Amino acid sequence: MSAGTGCESPRIAIVGGGPAGLAAAVALSCHGLGDDLAVVDPSGGWLTAWRERFAAQRIAHLRSPAVHHPHPEPFALHRHLREHDLDDELLHVGGTHLPTAVGFDRFTDDLVGEVGLGGHVIPTAATALADDRGRPVLRLADGATMRSDHVVLATNTRTPAVPAGLEGAVAAGAATVGDRLHLDDTPDGGHVVVVGGGLSAAHLALGAVAAGATVSMVTRHRIAVRRYDVHPNWLGPKKRRPFETEPDPHVRRRTLDNARGGGSVPHRFKRALDRAEADGLLRLHERVRPVDALPAGARTQVCLDDGTVIVADAVWLATGGPVDVEVDPLLTSLRTTRPATVVGGLPELDPDLSWPGTRVHLTGAAAGLQLGPLAGNLIGHRRAASRIVAGLLGLDPLRADRVITGTQACPQLPVR
Ligand SMILES: Cc1cc2nc3c(=O)[nH]c(=O)nc-3n(C[C@H](O)[C@H](O)[C@H](O)COP(=O)(O)OP(=O)(O)OC[C@H]3O[C@@H](n4cnc5c(N)ncnc54)[C@H](O)[C@@H]3O)c2cc1C
Repeated sequence: MSAGTGCESPRIAIVGGGPAGLAAAVALSCHGLGDDLAVVDPSGGWLTAWRERFAAQRIAHLRSPAVHHPHPEPFALHRHLREHDLDDELLHVGGTHLPTAVGFDRFTDDLVGEVGLGGHVIPTAATALADDRGRPVLRLADGATMRSDHVVLATNTRTPAVPAGLEGAVAAGAATVGDRLHLDDTPDGGHVVVVGGGLSAAHLALGAVAAGATVSMVTRHRIAVRRYDVHPNWLGPKKRRPFETEPDPHVRRRTLDNARGGGSVPHRFKRALDRAEADGLLRLHERVRPVDALPAGARTQVCLDDGTVIVADAVWLATGGPVDVEVDPLLTSLRTTRPATVVGGLPELDPDLSWPGTRVHLTGAAAGLQLGPLAGNLIGHRRAASRIVAGLLGLDPLRADRVITGTQACPQLPVR
């Protein structure tokens, strides 16, 4: 389907072709709901932003195990790589297999092809969303209007978190933030200040060292060392069920924040940072914050709150950014016409992840108050997709992991 000016009426429209949008599209297709599906993403393809991020940070492996991916059946990726005799595309770490980025890309390409989603993404952005007597209406940047029975919002809209005092440096281009960070921009033989203590900051710091720069890595807290960004207890019902049945969204929000904590890095990355520090190529400044960044000729002088001053050729803010539906432009109309409870930027959604009173379903990190701290991860995307499918099939979304099992309905990816 292509858009263009005019009015399209697909049964289901998905906004965003990232892993969350793909998980939804695959699950819908596997359960007979994909015949009349439209997907919009300005890139015109699947997982473009995801792949660009991996390329920008030169990430070789996923952080999550190989059972986490957009196919409803947990072992689909494992089996796919094995069947292609691609054991080397699974990194074995402490009893778990992590897929390589290359293997994951190959798998998702094959998945898109097998489920018939290739060429499905309309290359445009959604610019507005309204509810017209129970039917969601999308306005698209190419001038078209899309009326559908259901919309799945999978945009992962985030506002980059800029440390206080560095806003001017970002505006002036002296500091770079979020998705604009790219290791290709490493100043050859220069000095880079990387702000942030999570895995993206570690990838960028180590990547800059590998590219010939020296690095100062500035973190608010002592660097937390964890294998995954969220404790694996959250994969099972022991943690999830009490979260899902907690009536107070403020309690759920606090639990979610505590479970995610700040950024963290797996052990092997901490060891690599320590090695680079021992080699004199990197200096860790833990438990300090940058408070100012001023021009110093062609360079930038970064002031830390412990009095340290660092002169840098590049300042990279790998400080992440929250999802906040209260500032998401696509939700402007729903916020007014269908007000929902929002706690710390996250909405209280119905069990099928619909914005209350509408047929607009949210997936990804925005569904955190329903799905918990893994909502923004690959496993969370799969759970969101199951809940949405269960709701559309008239089943209980809260029992989606029991009533919706991809193993029965989804194609196995064949060996080519
Ligand atoms: C570097 C990095 C590595 C990660 N590694 C892992 C990992 O190993 N395992 C794991 O479980 N999680 C990982 N995550 C977390 C998470 O899985 C990713 O952030 C993932 O990309 C989130 O998927 P998404 O579909 O919600 O968002 P995105 O991948 O950001 O996709 C959103 C899509 O929506 C599109 N879009 C946005 N606005 C509009 C609009 N108005 N109209 C149309 N389209 C729009 C964008 O173009 C984009 O393609 C990682 C995150 C990062 C940043």
